[in-house]
Amino acid sequence: MKQFKLVATAASGIEALVGKELRDLGIECEVENGKAIFFGDMSTIIKANLWLRTADRIKIIVGEFEATTFEDLFEQTKAIPWEDLLPMDAEFPVAGKSIKSTLYSVPDCQAITKKAIVNRLSEHYSRYGRLPETGAKFPIEVALLKDKVTLTLDTTGSSLFKRGYRLDKGGAPLKENMAAAIIKLTTWRKDRPFYDPVCGSGTFCIEAAMIGRNLAPGYNRQFLIETWSWFDKSIATTLRAEAKEQADYDCELDITGTDIDPKMIAIAKANAEQAGLGDSITFKQMNLTDFNTTKEYGVIVANPPYGERLGEEEAVQRLYKEMGKTYKPLDTWSKYILTSDLTFESHYGSRATKKRKLYNGALRTDLFQYWGKRPPRQPRKED
Ligand code: SAH
Repeated sequence: MKQFKLVATAASGIEALVGKELRDLGIECEVENGKAIFFGDMSTIIKANLWLRTADRIKIIVGEFEATTFEDLFEQTKAIPWEDLLPMDAEFPVAGKSIKSTLYSVPDCQAITKKAIVNRLSEHYSRYGRLPETGAKFPIEVALLKDKVTLTLDTTGSSLFKRGYRLDKGGAPLKENMAAAIIKLTTWRKDRPFYDPVCGSGTFCIEAAMIGRNLAPGYNRQFLIETWSWFDKSIATTLRAEAKEQADYDCELDITGTDIDPKMIAIAKANAEQAGLGDSITFKQMNLTDFNTTKEYGVIVANPPYGERLGEEEAVQRLYKEMGKTYKPLDTWSKYILTSDLTFESHYGSRATKKRKLYNGALRTDLFQYWGKRPPRQPRKED
């Protein structure tokens, strides 16, 4: 089967997790800033789209070359056998970006790339400069970095953070792939309690349950490549059937989400239901200060309000103080709190074991980590 050079794109800071996920799928890769590069066939493309929890999209790298003049860009783009990927009626918008490159005008780079592909295809299909663009969509991007051009074709469509389960998202949702990435940065394993005290639309709890149940995050949605005529649909059918087989609905999970706002609890429940996880998560309306437990070695993952809006700062910092007081007795629990308030520790009342810089969309945040005691070693089973 035809082999492609592929890239999984991700938010900056998340790429190592994408790399680990690819290797766990048995796919070798190289991690660079904001991306992981790998090779594979159509089946690899679907597997990556279906199973990667932390990536944004999977793209085919169609061409890579140096260009410092528009003529260079035009000729080298035209030399690529686009007809192998794009049918005569393909709709192919060309997006662009340029960083530290001689060809800095992004609209011009887009226009030249488009013209070169139109030229190539209209000669190939004998259409003499006129292509209908009435068929399936093939989103292309021309990206220049220090005069190196990378031409990519997106196979995903709407970003992979859109799993298809979120019916409503409330006011301050976390992207699903960012939530999954944060969970993967914690010590949580499916045999430990998981708790989100400010669960909002339920994203952390649903992502944790999907990990616990081994559900493929892309199972309930379609990928753009599945609309392309040359794509072998049986590959997606087979891989989805395999994913269904691998789902584990039997293991015990202890996942709880609470929020002070009853509307958010209703939304979280509906979203979990939509994800097929209605029975796997407990959602309850509650003020986070009312939390107490006799369970041990649990993990708290929280995305509390940040107080970005004027006048909210004080209330939010009071909340952080309450969190500190409430969680202090839980010395076997680990706590992971994401906020853009970099003075968080002084309100919470103790120094984090570790901090990690992450971007929640465009907003710089830190994941404040408070590691709990390690669970005792399980006695070795007799062979
Ligand atoms: N991660 C969530 C968004 C969390 S927004 C998502 O993906 O949807 C912060 C949430 O904290 C809001 O839903 C708000 O209702 C809740 N909240 C604020 N103060 C609280 C308190 N004292 N106790 C519990 N929840 C609180």
